[in-house]
Amino acid sequence: MDLNEARDKILTSLQRLTLSESIALDQAGNRVVMQPTRALVSLPPFPCSAMDGYAIRFDDLEGTPPYIMKLVGESLAGHPYQGKSATGECIRIFTGAMLPTGLDCVVIQENCATDGTRVQLLENVSLGANVRPMGHDILKGEPVVETGKIITAFDVGWLAACGITHVDVVRKLRVALFSTGDELAEPGAKLNPGQIYESNRFTLTQLLNEIPLEIDDLGILPDDPERIEAAMLEAADSCDVLLTSGGVSVGDADFVKDVIQKIGQLEIWRLNLKPGKPLAFGRINDALFFGLPGNPVSTIVTFLLMVKPALLALSGVESHELPSFTATLRQPIAHKPGREEYQRGRLQRIDEQTFVDVTGDQSSNRLATFSHADCLIRIPKTCGDLAIGSSVGVLPFKGIL
Ligand code: AMP
Ligand code: MG
Repeated sequence: MDLNEARDKILTSLQRLTLSESIALDQAGNRVVMQPTRALVSLPPFPCSAMDGYAIRFDDLEGTPPYIMKLVGESLAGHPYQGKSATGECIRIFTGAMLPTGLDCVVIQENCATDGTRVQLLENVSLGANVRPMGHDILKGEPVVETGKIITAFDVGWLAACGITHVDVVRKLRVALFSTGDELAEPGAKLNPGQIYESNRFTLTQLLNEIPLEIDDLGILPDDPERIEAAMLEAADSCDVLLTSGGVSVGDADFVKDVIQKIGQLEIWRLNLKPGKPLAFGRINDALFFGLPGNPVSTIVTFLLMVKPALLALSGVESHELPSFTATLRQPIAHKPGREEYQRGRLQRIDEQTFVDVTGDQSSNRLATFSHADCLIRIPKTCGDLAIGSSVGVLPFKGIL
């Protein structure tokens, strides 16, 4: 199955989480909004000045500048002018200060001259100039954040400005994570002959931490179908998603897929994708199962392109489009049509043009290709060899946030 087809199939079959929890604003960052949170106040709550200057009544102006006004008081941020102002009177005002009742424009101080009792307005003035009307940003009762939105740093500030202390968010997904393989040892342990240090759980934990979920780290499972079965059944009881790496290919010690077929349903196995061909997807009772390939590069690519969008969708996130743009290749890429491929690349911006370099030998065991990369280079299924200067699609790992 092609990647897009598999991803669409998975995304359309998902049951989104329906339970919510009310969470304090300072804990709400990166959580998913369950229902619209409405502003408790209008912003600004009162008409206020956008500049330092003098507040006047537009209708008081006659003829051409300079206009002479009598200075009768001042309004500072947090200290509004309490009195009234009659025709021909003006108020000293500062940024963020409440506009006194009846006044409707602010003349910036740079366009004024004053002796302390009178103010000369030296330029023409327009109605409403330099005034932020009440509710200009949002009106009381309007939604600040909508259902399905991931709460960003900006939203936290925006919610605070609207007087909100708690937000209804989707409960966190619970993800069981394990690696499989008799050859795997924990970093720090002594390596026996034929062993390597395990890395997938470490990478996946970091990638999972960017999504609102709880990880149940179940360690390394041996290549033993009975142990794998017992661990999976137990995890399926307490978790929403089981995420494994290794053991889903066609080797004699690849038991994970067989176990899923025995105790659940295997719905997708093998993608027309490089790297990541052996990916498996299925269900055990109410839990979803993603079996990622064991090669560390394949693990990461399939997690990013397949599992992460699914986890976000499960958590109720409305939009999870992968960001992409085009860049110009600086090395040739050999590619036979037939299979979609993702290589690791490094972007460079030169004279308003974006170039991309391939990060060395792209073998699926070489984590170094990722360490030096800041994007994935997408090579479409139908594409042949790509020459230097070709335009390619790239998926950046990081944006401004
Ligand atoms: P498998 O899919 O189990 O056949 O594994 C494919 C390759 O990935 C083998 O070389 C494994 O040793 C390696 N591998 C599997 N799991 C991990 C892991 N958690 N960390 C590092 N390498 C792994
Ligand atoms: Mg294995």
